[in-house]
Amino acid sequence: MHQNYVNGAWVDGASAVANINPSDTADVIGHYAQADAAQTCLAIAAAAAAAPAWGCSGTQARADALDKIGSEILARKDELGRLLSREEGKTLPEGIGEAGRAGAIFKFFAQECLRLRGDKLASVRPGIDVEVTREPVGVVGIIAPWNFPIAIPAWKIAPALAYGNCVLIKPAELVPGSVWALAEIISRAGLPDGVFNLLMGRGGVVGQTLLDDRRVDAISFTGSVTTGARVAQAAIGRMAKVQIEMGGKNPLVVLNDADLANAVNCAVQGSFFSTGQRCTASSRIIVEKGVYPAFVAALKEKLAGLNIGDALKAGTDIGPVVDAAQLEQDLQYIRIGRDEGATLAFGGQRVRRDTEGFYLTPALFTDCSNDMRISREEIFGPVASVIPADNYEHALALANDTEFGLSSGICTGSLKHATHFKRHAQAGMVMVNVATAGVDYHVPFGGRKGSSYGSREQGSYAAEFFTSVKTAYCG
Ligand code: NAD
Repeated sequence: MHQNYVNGAWVDGASAVANINPSDTADVIGHYAQADAAQTCLAIAAAAAAAPAWGCSGTQARADALDKIGSEILARKDELGRLLSREEGKTLPEGIGEAGRAGAIFKFFAQECLRLRGDKLASVRPGIDVEVTREPVGVVGIIAPWNFPIAIPAWKIAPALAYGNCVLIKPAELVPGSVWALAEIISRAGLPDGVFNLLMGRGGVVGQTLLDDRRVDAISFTGSVTTGARVAQAAIGRMAKVQIEMGGKNPLVVLNDADLANAVNCAVQGSFFSTGQRCTASSRIIVEKGVYPAFVAALKEKLAGLNIGDALKAGTDIGPVVDAAQLEQDLQYIRIGRDEGATLAFGGQRVRRDTEGFYLTPALFTDCSNDMRISREEIFGPVASVIPADNYEHALALANDTEFGLSSGICTGSLKHATHFKRHAQAGMVMVNVATAGVDYHVPFGGRKGSSYGSREQGSYAAEFFTSVKTAYCG
């Protein structure tokens, strides 16, 4: 049994759930505790009690703890990556890569907490000095999605601790294993009791309790638009600080002058790797008419060469969909796309492998319009729409015609168009001749419009959310 971690102790939950491998549903990874509201309240009380002392702790203690955590993650990234791939279904190289990223994030924030700056200014009034400093926010509730089981928890936990906050983390129900392993490492890093707490359990129970409790000063959430809207309302309703990262319908524009092979690679990588289950996935591929037939033919050929199979097997390019419900959602959208008149040019079929898993071949729709539901709603699977564009201006207009604004990409050989696109794409992240998914860990991450709400995550910009600004006057 994998227990919750509350106030420096491992504790049973009110119940437990099995963690199932989506590549092989007969493989039970383990049983994981489920907290109830009462256990969540105990953890909140512990975090609130630990916050004043931890908030005034020296930065060296925090830097040392984060560095130790990062070093152990990096030393064990193969093992942690294997666990991640086994519970979530991304391929082993992708899982190991994600675990390595989590380690690098802890190492980054171990140093970043030493660089937190303030300002000292002369007052407009004589004989008075003004100081602007950053202090911890206090107790931070973290609510994570299933698609990056260790990286997203890491990029929220590491800055929260670095800047002197206490943490309550609730991982997604489908992937408790990676966060449990991370919590086990954190539990040995020398943090005072109550500073870090793990609460595995249901969103409507653990998550809702975190949202409703006034002792939780800030909520950092990543997940779907529907839940995100609910989280925003609850947090704002009681004036808690809130940061929300949600979905995307990210465009990849391919112009006539693009390097065709690179554009196809960007599309395959961005649309279908990690089984398309990335908020930054390029689910709309907008292609200028002159290159449209050649691009679609080359993309189909590339897709035909991919291996869909067990995430842990060598040679697998695309693992399974995460669970039965997500698979049904993907298949439902494939039916919707056909009914809307799009051409299913490749894949979209459920396939069998040696083990019982949620395998789906990558689905490529062509002849799509930007008005179709498959071009407007986040599917969150290996399904992409190819949309024809008359010219660059038309392609840019289509790219921006969405309620989302997370990542936006263009493949072009034209400096003029690349420069214009970087300025005019309505997205938090813009990619030129690289895939829409795949980002660095030391620079800000986040979107605009319906994709994000609140300040940016990651890099030095994380200080905006995880600290509170104080202005002090001294006469
Ligand atoms: P989800 O919204 O279903 O769940 C996210 C988290 O919210 C889970 O931990 C869940 O238990 C919790 N939750 C559910 N109901 C709650 C409630 N009433 N109160 C509090 N918490 C509650 O999302 P998901 O299916 O886990 O993740 C997929 C979504 O996440 C996609 O839409 C994807 O685009 C998005 N995502 C966004 C980013 C980003 O940075 N923009 C990154 C990764 C994933």
